[in-house]
Amino acid sequence: MIYKIITKKEFKKFINGLISENEAIGPKQVDTDAKGKPIYQFKQVHSFDEIDLDYTVTYSSLKNFFLPFREELSTFSFENNDWEQNIEYHVNPRVIIGVRPCDINALNKLDNIFINGKFPSPYYLARRMNTFLIGLDHIPPADCFCESFDAHQVNLGFHLFCSDAGDKYHLAINSSKAFNFLKNVKTGEPTEKDNKAYIERKKLIKKKFRTRVNTAGLYHYLDLEFKSPIWKKWGDKCLNCGTCAMVCPTCYCFGIEENIDVSLKKSQRERIQYSCNIVDFAEVAGGHNFRPLNEDRLKYRYYHHYKGFAENANEQICVGCNRCGRACLAGINPKDVINDLRLESTDEL
Ligand code: SF4
Ligand code: SF4
Repeated sequence: MIYKIITKKEFKKFINGLISENEAIGPKQVDTDAKGKPIYQFKQVHSFDEIDLDYTVTYSSLKNFFLPFREELSTFSFENNDWEQNIEYHVNPRVIIGVRPCDINALNKLDNIFINGKFPSPYYLARRMNTFLIGLDHIPPADCFCESFDAHQVNLGFHLFCSDAGDKYHLAINSSKAFNFLKNVKTGEPTEKDNKAYIERKKLIKKKFRTRVNTAGLYHYLDLEFKSPIWKKWGDKCLNCGTCAMVCPTCYCFGIEENIDVSLKKSQRERIQYSCNIVDFAEVAGGHNFRPLNEDRLKYRYYHHYKGFAENANEQICVGCNRCGRACLAGINPKDVINDLRLESTDEL
């Protein structure tokens, strides 16, 4: 990693340069909630002034820019007793500005599935490879617990990471592309004082977390609590709406739809994001549902996030952003569910 210092004035010039050459996405206020608090989303931007770098957290995650809600995988044509498959995907070079560490960590987890996994996705890979990612640190919102999953800091998966240092940024440069882009603006070498301030900023961010989840031994608690009554307690509240999975930066369950034209001469295959909490998630041909109960569906979502993925990839898939907790109309959130699990088990592991 190479470190540089850039003034905020020069940074604005740098970002405007990138925006003029690329499709650009950044955090913007789109509305206010019932309490008058701003709601932010990642949106297309056309100048630096449209971006709100002081945003708290976006309602939806960045996932949708890499795994769209609905995406065409291929089309088929059936002519003269033969068939042909056509696959097309096209991604413009783009830049995403102001991404928080937990959201970059979430993308790194998706990389493990869609790039490094057994069945890599060329659609995902094309988007990831054509995206220049600029991270930005922040003082965490009160209900965020990414520090509990060590997702409040990030060392890979971005091109450039900015740490706020008053009227300048301490930049971590993580790619030759970022290094070359920065040649167009004025940067300086960090002094000893800058580096000390950078370390102090990191310590301050860690100290500012007000929500913590005790994840020690969680993997084993889940092993022991498969039949726990807490799954029914929380499952009974669940509305099966699937919102938690839609806003989550790492939920990636999907369904495949085949749309056959009435002429029977062509068809289209689409991938659509899905949620394991939705009633028919485990329904198979013939109408049998392997998970008809709310409590089972909710439980398996938690097992996938905190155990199944940990078993397969040696890490938990949750990054602790609490988007699911904020969006859930039934008041279900990982902190309370995990705390309940711990109360179930009397012995500390
Ligand atoms: S958002 Fe809440 S109510 Fe909706 S499916 Fe998820 S846990 Fe259930
Ligand atoms: S806190 Fe919720 S939304 Fe965020 S990564 Fe974990 S499960 Fe997904």
